[in-house]
Amino acid sequence: MSGMGRGGGKGQGIGRGGQGRGGMGGSGLGPGGECRCPNCGHIMPHQAGVPCYEQTCPKCGSKMTRP
Ligand SMILES: [Zn+2]
Repeated sequence: MSGMGRGGGKGQGIGRGGQGRGGMGGSGLGPGGECRCPNCGHIMPHQAGVPCYEQTCPKCGSKMTRP
């Protein structure tokens, strides 16, 4: 037997790359985050110490919620 070296046919595990799970930096709940108006869609930065639902939308006056 000669010629069986290494690196014979089957493979190396390249090929499924690039799919992580989730994806960071998308839109989602982050620290800090934003509050969103469910009525008109206005988004404003969340204020620390103030829950979104205690803020009202400056545009339409609805209660804000987390996106
Ligand atoms: Zn609104």
